[in-house]
Amino acid sequence: MTLEQTDRSGPAPLVELSGVSRVFEGEGEEQVRALDGISLRIHAGEFVCVTGPSGSGKSTLMHIIGCLDRATEGECRIAGTDVGTLDDDGLAVLRRHAFGFVFQSYNLLESLSASANVELPATYAGLRAGQRHDRAREILGTLGLGDRLDHRPAEMSGGEQQRVAIARALMNGARVILADEPTGAIDTEQGAEVLDLLEALSERGHAVIMVSHDGAVADRAHRVVELVDGRVVSDSGASLAPGSAPDTPEPQTPRQSNIPWLAALRHGLVALRTSGLRGALTVFSVALGTWSVLALLGLSEGVRMDIADAMEEMGANRLSVSSMAFGRPGEPARLQPLTLADADAIAERVANVSSVQPGMWERLMVSRGGELIDPVIVRALSVYEPRTYQNATWPLSEGTYLSEEDRDAVAQVAVIGPTIRDRLFSLDESPLGQHVDINGLPFVVKGVLTPHPRKIGEGEMMWAGPNAREWDGTVVHIPFETGANLIFGKENLNGLDVLLTDAERIDETARDIKDLLFRHHGTEYGVTNQALIWISGKKLKTMHLALFGAIAGIALILGGMTIVAVSLAGVSQRRREIGIRRAVGARRRDITAQFVVETGIATTLGGAIGALSSFAGSSLLAQVTGAPVAFEPWFALVALGCAIAMGLAFGIVPARRAAGLDPVSALAMD
Ligand code: ADP
Ligand code: MG
Repeated sequence: MTLEQTDRSGPAPLVELSGVSRVFEGEGEEQVRALDGISLRIHAGEFVCVTGPSGSGKSTLMHIIGCLDRATEGECRIAGTDVGTLDDDGLAVLRRHAFGFVFQSYNLLESLSASANVELPATYAGLRAGQRHDRAREILGTLGLGDRLDHRPAEMSGGEQQRVAIARALMNGARVILADEPTGAIDTEQGAEVLDLLEALSERGHAVIMVSHDGAVADRAHRVVELVDGRVVSDSGASLAPGSAPDTPEPQTPRQSNIPWLAALRHGLVALRTSGLRGALTVFSVALGTWSVLALLGLSEGVRMDIADAMEEMGANRLSVSSMAFGRPGEPARLQPLTLADADAIAERVANVSSVQPGMWERLMVSRGGELIDPVIVRALSVYEPRTYQNATWPLSEGTYLSEEDRDAVAQVAVIGPTIRDRLFSLDESPLGQHVDINGLPFVVKGVLTPHPRKIGEGEMMWAGPNAREWDGTVVHIPFETGANLIFGKENLNGLDVLLTDAERIDETARDIKDLLFRHHGTEYGVTNQALIWISGKKLKTMHLALFGAIAGIALILGGMTIVAVSLAGVSQRRREIGIRRAVGARRRDITAQFVVETGIATTLGGAIGALSSFAGSSLLAQVTGAPVAFEPWFALVALGCAIAMGLAFGIVPARRAAGLDPVSALAMD
């Protein structure tokens, strides 16, 4: 933008149109020639009024000169620069530094103070905050608005608002001031003040171009250009002798901001702070979405853990290897060898096995003095904590359980079931330290089991089969080594209890164990689980995952749709704001950045609120509903991820939509 000096006609014009036409594509074949071959030169210091009947092309001419719109034909030079050679961003930068717009309806941003409105063009030009404030205050002061700096537009009269708009036009220097019907919306007295102001500006070297169909306004101008049907029908001619123009004001060309995101952050924050219900709705919907996702995650995790516990309790993480082989129907069952070496091999070589507990049991005779119980299930166990055959804890009512010392000492000690205690000892007699005979060998009673936690009813007895007596309490536990050495004979395992790390992989682990035993012994072994339980457990988990996924998905979609709806509504509500920002020099990407930042801040804020409140509310939820709720740290990451993803996914659409609006239509009043 250099001022080209041409020796013949003095300084080059600020505005130079040659043969400019603007054709609008109408409906169907119809075309509207809004401007038809306009040639016009306007110099610094001129005070021009463009007049003409309605529809003669005045506003279109204004938009072309102000680089808000492009000519269809012809050439338009601003301060020597052919605007046809500039891209969209180039035009934005030119608007920013060369033009100041004054509109009939002021077009101030309602949510900003007078001084913030005036500062707006400078924020896009990258002027520092301190300099911006000072300059805005100074300009408003010279326009007699020094005491209105912090007033919102709604708190000022029409004349005052128009003077704020003029101050905004002057913020970046404004070599050319474009005013479309600047007095159209205010009373005559205030209108006269505005015209005085514009005249004074032309005397200070600005080129002032007004549009008006009002003869009184035209009379005040130094030069009148009349349009009819897009053509210049009269021009009173340049009002200044060549060379007599005053110095044009220096364009304010401050250091270009190279951090556009920082400016976007500032605009976004201000816009969000002043967005009222719209911003609150966005934050609220994200908070709600995040909250429900987190609550569902917590609930789901709680239920999952409950199910895992229940499955473990029911023995779904346990496989039983039996030495009993059942042949074809009709053939008798027979015993196959099952040894400690097999137990070690399974523990060491099969994946997903956490421990292998060899077991021996037999129905034997237990007696004390003259009393005798027959049969009793005598179990030699390699587990040194009280547990049932199904892995649930089985508390003691008296004494202590078998210990590792008992194992090492091959001690003749026993823990007896409640039925045996009832039969062999009187109620007030402590069985601890007393002897019972198992298969003729004396054992010291160490502890007494409580009745089995899984007390069963009459009807279940059949189903429970051989375990029924054990559940009934007719059982004795002795250390594995003692049983192996003194009672059962070392090689003779009845079965192995195999505990798994992951109950889900029970099928493949069972197959691996079968394969291993087949390689060792050449025959098939029964490797079983309470299949019914584990299948239903698995099913439950799948159902629960599907349910959770569906509800979380719906929550996310609802939240996202609210954001899109709210911000799209925002875009149409904010067309004018976008138009104003574009007119004062915001590039498309400045608008995109502002909208993304706005949504981003709102969603991050919403995500944080949702996360915090669900962490705080989780114990409440658990207490009120009695539902299991579990929270883990990674939930917070999920929440933040959801919020940011929502912000990006649903913020980009309205942002691009906003940035795509062309300034003229964004500013259109109808
Ligand atoms: P004025 O400001 O003098 O009233 P305008 O410049 O607004 O006139 O419009 C000039 C002509 O161009 C009118 O006939 C108008 O209908 C037409 N026109 C203006 N803008 C558009 C547009 N975006 N699309 C189609 N026709 C348009
Ligand atoms: Mg008009």
